[in-house]
Amino acid sequence: MTRAISHPHWGNSPWSIDFQPAPSSIPAKADFAIVGGGFSGLSAASWLRRFAPGKSVVLFESVAIGAGSSGHTGGLALAETAAGNLPGLGDVLAGFTTILSELAVDCDCQLPGAIEVGRSGGLPDSPISWSDSGLLRAVRQVPGGTIDPGKMVSGLARAAETSGAQIFENLPIKEILFENPVRLRFQGGELRARKVLLATNGMSLELSDLARRAQTKFTLAVATEPLRAAQIESLGLASQKPFYTIDFPYLWGRLLRTGGVVFGGGLVHMDDWRELMNLDIDEGESAELIARLESRVRALHPALQTVRFTNRWGGPILIANEWRPVFARHPQSQSVVVLGAYSGHGVAQSVYLGRWAAEVLCGNSSLPDWNPAEEKA
Ligand SMILES: Cc1cc2nc3c(=O)[nH]c(=O)nc-3n(C[C@H](O)[C@H](O)[C@H](O)COP(=O)(O)OP(=O)(O)OC[C@H]3O[C@@H](n4cnc5c(N)ncnc54)[C@H](O)[C@@H]3O)c2cc1C
Repeated sequence: MTRAISHPHWGNSPWSIDFQPAPSSIPAKADFAIVGGGFSGLSAASWLRRFAPGKSVVLFESVAIGAGSSGHTGGLALAETAAGNLPGLGDVLAGFTTILSELAVDCDCQLPGAIEVGRSGGLPDSPISWSDSGLLRAVRQVPGGTIDPGKMVSGLARAAETSGAQIFENLPIKEILFENPVRLRFQGGELRARKVLLATNGMSLELSDLARRAQTKFTLAVATEPLRAAQIESLGLASQKPFYTIDFPYLWGRLLRTGGVVFGGGLVHMDDWRELMNLDIDEGESAELIARLESRVRALHPALQTVRFTNRWGGPILIANEWRPVFARHPQSQSVVVLGAYSGHGVAQSVYLGRWAAEVLCGNSSLPDWNPAEEKA
């Protein structure tokens, strides 16, 4: 069964999910508990079962798998973090593709490279020549490509469940008691876990203690109707390479299999992540930013002047201080690891670091070198 990826008023993305967790009853205890059913949590769930086959893994998702950033993302798979390469990070894209293959996740992954575009320093043979607060041209090609986010969420969830993890949707964790074992409280009950991964990203910042390390924003995207091959060629997108700007105003985008093009940009600021719950893309700042994005797209190139938009949507991103992803022990418990805040570069990182997080929780690996010293232990 296919279902739309939805949060009440975040619009409709071109992606859909064809996985529903098998019904089962919530155990009272587990060896490993994961909070958050996005790419990070789902990847970790599979790997925990693979690294520790005799141990139980339970994943809690407050709404539905993919309901956060992962189901609303643009699906650009990039090698570097938003802060560039980091010490000890390793080869993200190689790890990402190996994981997809080992978990048999079919998500239309294509890695032809990605194009960085900018308003100065354009390459003489730039395939892209657009008008957007100046002349936008390709400045560099970097490793990367695209995936279908709905298929990736579904495939990761299927792999996790097949490997023996239990997934529970519509089950927000309301409170965590940092005892030994860790107590995860939800409406009507609690689960005790030896080790916990908090992969809640832009939400539940009071559980993950991320409020002091990152800020939740809401970002927007639109998809056009299918374009003709000649239009795609004249836009400079026939190579299937996604693109993003290295200067502001920010713009990113990619081709869809239908021939439509996704364009994204714009940030809604909020003082508290809970504002996400009342955010409606047809109202206020979100609606203004969508309208602005559509005008920008139509003005980019003559091929887009009268283009029709088929999808308008948005989703949360968690922007970390200094743009470095957070992958650290929770300050209140050595048994709890926090992973997230990829600052808009999470598609490949989340899957790759989800596996690494599973290794850390199993005691087979240590945390990376880019964390403050007190969180590495
Ligand atoms: C519009 C948009 C475009 C983007 N484009 C790109 C891109 O092209 N390339 C790229 O690399 N990155 C992009 N990103 C960012 C990328 O999507 C994220 O970094 C990535 O999906 C993060 O995955 P995650 O699993 O860490 O978090 P999420 O997918 O946000 O998962 C967290 C989950 O935790 C759940 N949750 C929260 N609190 C609780 C709780 N208390 N109990 C239980 N569950 C809870 C949420 O419901 C959610 O499902 C984009 C994001 C958006 C919104």
